[in-house]
Amino acid sequence: MGTREFHECVIIGAGPAGLGAALYASRAGIEACVLEKLSPGGQVLTTDWVDNYLGFEQGVAGYELIEHMKAHADRFGARFLSKEVSTIRGDLNQGFDLHLATNEIINTRAVIVATGARPKQLNCPGEQELTGKGVSYCATCDGPFFKDMDIAVVGGGDSACQEALFLTKFAKRIFLVHRRRELRAVKTLQDKVLKHPKIEPIWDSVVESIGGENEVEYCMLRNVHTGEVRELKVKGVFIFIGIHPNTELVRGLVDLDDQGFIVTNEWMETNVPGIFAAGDCRSKPLRQIITAVSDGATAAYGVKHRLL
Ligand code: NAP
Repeated sequence: MGTREFHECVIIGAGPAGLGAALYASRAGIEACVLEKLSPGGQVLTTDWVDNYLGFEQGVAGYELIEHMKAHADRFGARFLSKEVSTIRGDLNQGFDLHLATNEIINTRAVIVATGARPKQLNCPGEQELTGKGVSYCATCDGPFFKDMDIAVVGGGDSACQEALFLTKFAKRIFLVHRRRELRAVKTLQDKVLKHPKIEPIWDSVVESIGGENEVEYCMLRNVHTGEVRELKVKGVFIFIGIHPNTELVRGLVDLDDQGFIVTNEWMETNVPGIFAAGDCRSKPLRQIITAVSDGATAAYGVKHRLL
């Protein structure tokens, strides 16, 4: 039997939502502990440049923004532990037992789930085998490996456009492969992408497969209207086709929507009293850093005013 400790409130995940919750909880006098399996930051850490976080009018590097957020939560006494939660048991009356991968148990009155989301996969032949060998989901991490090379970026949303622009620093040519003829991204990003000399859109096309001996050499594209399949010679395929919620931990415990995102009310309460959710793992219309932070603040406020 491992050790057992108690915290008034446990926040699972230290991305912007978890850090927002940590700041607001600790500042409200709640004894809060943040659990994060890796290091604080979440998806922002894989974002090179954040251009739309209020207060940083010139933009800010993703890692730098997280450093500020973490330092801010630290200042009010939030405790951070590098631990992974495997299961949650219990209820509001007995408290919740969070079973950790290390066999320890943390008991708490309130849980804020801020586990975020991860990139969706194409699920096409070659994708898995060539991940890390030319297939990537993180331009900040892998962009510099593609200096003066031709690469493909898949997707038409904010992520695909923003990361394609970042990759222009390194790549020779970027083929932006999108399944429609119109981008989903916000207008300012679309404009920048469409007039960038290094970015060439390939419309109405999907990736059928990715191939190469020991690293990516090409991908096969299919035109969704004509059915025509053609080879695109590229050294890298960066995939930004949306996100998948990290909600496996609470599947079967709290209500999820049909995409697997956690359903909450406006206090960020799930259908299980005592369990709150915040950030990208929550079912909501706008997933941005600013809305994640806001969810975190509201969840901490909910813990204070509806629970403790
Ligand atoms: P997203 O907005 O869901 O866009 C996904 C894109 O991938 C869409 O263009 C979609 O095509 C395409 N797609 C989806 N499944 C596909 C498949 N199987 N094959 C080919 N293409 C596929 O996802 P995101 O760009 O990752 O953004 C996620 C969230 O983070 C959004 O809320 C976004 O606003 C936010 N975000 C914001 C910023 C920013 O503000 N700077 C930056 C990054 C992300 P269709 O258009 O045809 O559906």
